Amino acid sequence: MPELPEVETVRRSLDARLVGARVRAVEVRRPDVCTPPPGVRLTTRTLLAGATIARLHRHGKQLAIISRQGPALAVHLGMTGQLLLVRSTAALPRPDHLHVLWRLDTAGGPLTLVFRDPRRFGGVWAFRSFDDLVRTRWAALGPDGVGLAAPYLRRRLAGTRRSLKAALLDQGIVAGVGNIYADEALFRARLSPSRDAGSLGVAECARLAAAVRAALALGIRRRGASLRDFVDADLRRGTSQDGFRVYGRGGLPCPSCGEPLRSGQLAQRTTVWCPVCQH
Ligand SMILES: [Zn+2]
Repeated sequence: MPELPEVETVRRSLDARLVGARVRAVEVRRPDVCTPPPGVRLTTRTLLAGATIARLHRHGKQLAIISRQGPALAVHLGMTGQLLLVRSTAALPRPDHLHVLWRLDTAGGPLTLVFRDPRRFGGVWAFRSFDDLVRTRWAALGPDGVGLAAPYLRRRLAGTRRSLKAALLDQGIVAGVGNIYADEALFRARLSPSRDAGSLGVAECARLAAAVRAALALGIRRRGASLRDFVDADLRRGTSQDGFRVYGRGGLPCPSCGEPLRSGQLAQRTTVWCPVCQH
């Protein structure tokens, strides 16, 4: 599932060509993946037909496409969602599951932005304005993981009895961290994923906040993790998976001490950690 580094990679791959582009037409092939603003019927206009794209914004794992005219879209990639930018959909290696197509006039010529999502856990939500989007769809999200601050994290974890793994996966505490970067951050912070989140001291909270920021920053530098389907808007794969220290490495030697890494279920997710290095 795309986490913050993957969605940021998509945003960066779209940004230069989408900003300033005019949406000539929108083709909706699967209306059920699109949600109009409350009380409004879904039309191509609600999906930015006729508008000009002013900017893209990411918060956690979600992306916003904001028009100059005001209306905005939130795009969530879910499990298998992709935003692809192509000259022609005929050039796509897998031209199936293309749910929404935005025909764009860009400075570099006509392009098509495609929302493709085989498993359809993702979707597109339309809003009258970016403010409406932030106030509703993003209201429950915590701060973006890239800038996670230690004092905030300490405040949010104080008094909680959940495991650290469960707390990091909670998008209301920190937006953007999923299973991959939670395991990577906890290893960096030398903290056990099963540790009681409320038991962290000041220094441990600082270590964890720094580790979350570092794990996400490395994921962005490596342009996301392409474990299965993930590609950026130009169908390029990322290399984050080549640098994982623990994720997906249960039973293999710890990169720090050499002991076999453990693997087990925690917060309903497969979790990998080092029993020697992480406490
Ligand atoms: Zn170790």
